[in-house]
Amino acid sequence: MGRVYNFSAGPAVLPEEVLKEAAEEMLDYKGTGMSVMEMSHRSKAYDEIIKEAEKDLRDLMGIPDNYKVIFRQGGASLQFAEVPMNLMKNGKAAYIITGQWAKKAAAEAEKYGEVVRVASSADKTFSYIPDCSDLDIPEDADYVYICENNTIYGTKYKTLPNTKGHILVADVSSCFLSEPIDVSKYGVVYGGVQKNVGPAGVQIVIVREDLIADGPAFKQCPTMMDWKIQADNDSLYNTPPCYGIYICGKVFKWIKKMGGLEGMKAHNEKKAKILYDFLDSSKLFKGTVVPEDRSLMNVPFVTGNEELDKKFVAEAKAAGFENLKGHRTVGGMRASIYNAMPIEGVEKLVAFMKKFEEENA
Ligand SMILES: *Cc1c(COP(=O)(O)O)cnc(C)c1O
Repeated sequence: MGRVYNFSAGPAVLPEEVLKEAAEEMLDYKGTGMSVMEMSHRSKAYDEIIKEAEKDLRDLMGIPDNYKVIFRQGGASLQFAEVPMNLMKNGKAAYIITGQWAKKAAAEAEKYGEVVRVASSADKTFSYIPDCSDLDIPEDADYVYICENNTIYGTKYKTLPNTKGHILVADVSSCFLSEPIDVSKYGVVYGGVQKNVGPAGVQIVIVREDLIADGPAFKQCPTMMDWKIQADNDSLYNTPPCYGIYICGKVFKWIKKMGGLEGMKAHNEKKAKILYDFLDSSKLFKGTVVPEDRSLMNVPFVTGNEELDKKFVAEAKAAGFENLKGHRTVGGMRASIYNAMPIEGVEKLVAFMKKFEEENA
């Protein structure tokens, strides 16, 4: 049994090379006689792993020196609370609602202060990114929050919102390291890694130092959710998700070898173009997102007929294309074509879709 083409939205495909390397090191990591899973997080070997992971991430993203990098447990969803707990000093924040994850983040933040929803694309099932060039952002808002790539609906911001001097907080879970970004434009960039960077259980928070200098906005903020404490302890306040961070470190090295984020972007654009070009020319399949806001990572599509959608997902699975069913809230199909999805995976999927289209015309 070979490996399938895995189009899962997350946890998702990882580079085969990384998995093989991890397998080779499973029983004896570099002469330590133990697996990374069995190792103290205070050991010299582990210290090198986590320091090198941070260094490689900083290199890849060009993270300025005045930003802290925190490796965390808890999933991206924990950030929905951590963001307001750490940043909502005036008790108010602006949220742009572009899908489920932004909606959930806003609802969670509302537990801690006032949330002003300054824009939304709910009117058209989140199939576009609203115009964010001139938003009505309250003067005293502590931050403007976006979900930069909407995993479920397949939209992506192509230009960042005009925050009018407020700091920008972005959930980049599903576009992490998919293309270069200018970190200095953000106050906080965070994401769960299980979409594009590593195994579930790790999240990465990149935060501008001055925003956490005085500690969290709320005194009651649990120690584990306090970014300053996490940063001051170099992500080793308690036991971090050691093995997950080790795999992330390997993925960072793989991305470097693939030409860094520029290389990744070219690779991802090539794949997305193959799929979108086909969707635009197909008589059966149709993309659900307006062309100008299409994600490079998550590509939702439909046939317009629920029975046919189901048939497609089942036949695709039998042919070795896994996890093409759309999110339960939107139906249809979704192909997630993250960094580690090879080009031939997308080419073969399109060939399969063409055949399906002919057979079901
Ligand atoms: C998957 C996802 C989340 C939730 O991640 P968890 O780690 O399961 O909490 C949040 N935001 C975005 C954009 C996602 O894609």
